[in-house]
Amino acid sequence: MARTFWCVAAVALGAVIASAQTRPAKTLDIYVVDVEGGNATLFVSPSGGSLLMDAGNGGAGAARDAGRIVEAAKAAGLTQIDHMVVTHWHGDHYGGLAELAGRMPIRHFIDHGPPTAPPAEAVQRFLQTTYPELHANARHTIARPGDAIAVAGLSVRVVTSNGDVIGAPLPGAGRPNSLCGSPPSVKFIPDDHESVGAYVTFGRFTALHLGDLTSNKEYELVCPTNRIGTIDVLLGLHHGQDTSNSAPFVHAVRPRVAIMNNGTRKGGWPEVMKTLFTSPRFEDLWQMHFSLLSGQEYTVPGVFIANGVDDQPGALPIAPQPLPPPGPGAPPPPAHNGPAHWIKVSAQADGTFTVTNARNGFSKVYPPEIQGTR
Ligand SMILES: [Zn+2]
Repeated sequence: MARTFWCVAAVALGAVIASAQTRPAKTLDIYVVDVEGGNATLFVSPSGGSLLMDAGNGGAGAARDAGRIVEAAKAAGLTQIDHMVVTHWHGDHYGGLAELAGRMPIRHFIDHGPPTAPPAEAVQRFLQTTYPELHANARHTIARPGDAIAVAGLSVRVVTSNGDVIGAPLPGAGRPNSLCGSPPSVKFIPDDHESVGAYVTFGRFTALHLGDLTSNKEYELVCPTNRIGTIDVLLGLHHGQDTSNSAPFVHAVRPRVAIMNNGTRKGGWPEVMKTLFTSPRFEDLWQMHFSLLSGQEYTVPGVFIANGVDDQPGALPIAPQPLPPPGPGAPPPPAHNGPAHWIKVSAQADGTFTVTNARNGFSKVYPPEIQGTR
C-alpha cells in the first residue's frame, strides 16, 4: 500500500516538475496602483484576462494616474482592459477614465448606474457627455448584486451595487455574526454607499474590494449573517477612512492581509488602524503611502509602505496629525507626482499568495491555511 502511494506520488511530482519547466507560473496578479489616495486596482488572470477597478483622479492628476495604470497594465503584458468597473462617481475613482481610455482600449464598462443623489456638476457633465462617448463602441453594463463578471480564468461576483447587497450568502458563507450589535450611523456621503463591490476568487484564493462602501452597507453584507465568509485579502478599504471599515465587518470577514489605498494625508485613520490590528487572523497591512493622519504611532513598518513624497523629509512625525479644516485655506497634502510604485499580489490556485512592494522589492509569501481552518 505504502509503496503504491509513493509510486503515485513520484509520478505526480514528476508531472508537476515537468509542467513547471514547460510553462510560466500561472498566477492571478493584482496590481494596486498608486493614484494618490484614489483607487486603481488591476486584476490579471493567468490567461491574461483583465479587470480594472477605478481609474484614479481627474483634473491635474488624470495624466499622472492614467500613466501609472498603463505602466502596470504593460508590466502585466496587457494591451487592453477587458472589464472596467467604475465603483462610484467620485473624482478619485472615475476621474482618470477618459485619459486612460485614450491610451488603452477598454472593452466593457461596468458601473452602478446614475447616482441617486443629484451629483456635482462635473459628474453630471461627465455622465451626460463624456461617458456615453467612452462606451459607445464597447459593452456597458449596470451591475446588480449577484452578477458575475466574466473574466477568463477567474470567478468575479458583484456583491454590492447602487446601495443594494447580495441577498444570499456566497458559497460556504452564511454563518451568524456575533459582532453585529446595532447598525452603525454613518455620516452620509453621496454615492460612496452605492459602490460596486467585487468578490474575486482564483482556486482557493479570495479577495474583496468594496470601493468606498460605507459602514451601514458593510453591516447589511455581514449582519445578522455573514454573507461574504472569510477572505485572504481586503483591497481598497475606502482609503482607510472611518466611514468604512467597521469592526463588525472587518472582524467578520477576517482578512489575512489588507492593502490600503490611502494618500499622504488621506485615510489611515487611527481608529481604522486599530480595527485592522485587532482583527482575528490578521497578518499584515500594506499601505500605498505613509499617512500623516496615522503618524508613526499607528502606521506599519516602512517596509510595507510603497510610496513616499517628492520632498521626502528625513524623519516622519510620530503623533497622528490633525486633518486641517476643509476649504480653500487648507494647506495641500505633501505632494507625490514623481516616480510611483505599486503593491502586487500574486496568487496561486492552491491559496498561496505573495505580496510585493515594488519600491523596495520586499516580498512576503502567505502559505495557504490548512483545510478546515477558514
Ligand atoms: Zn474614494
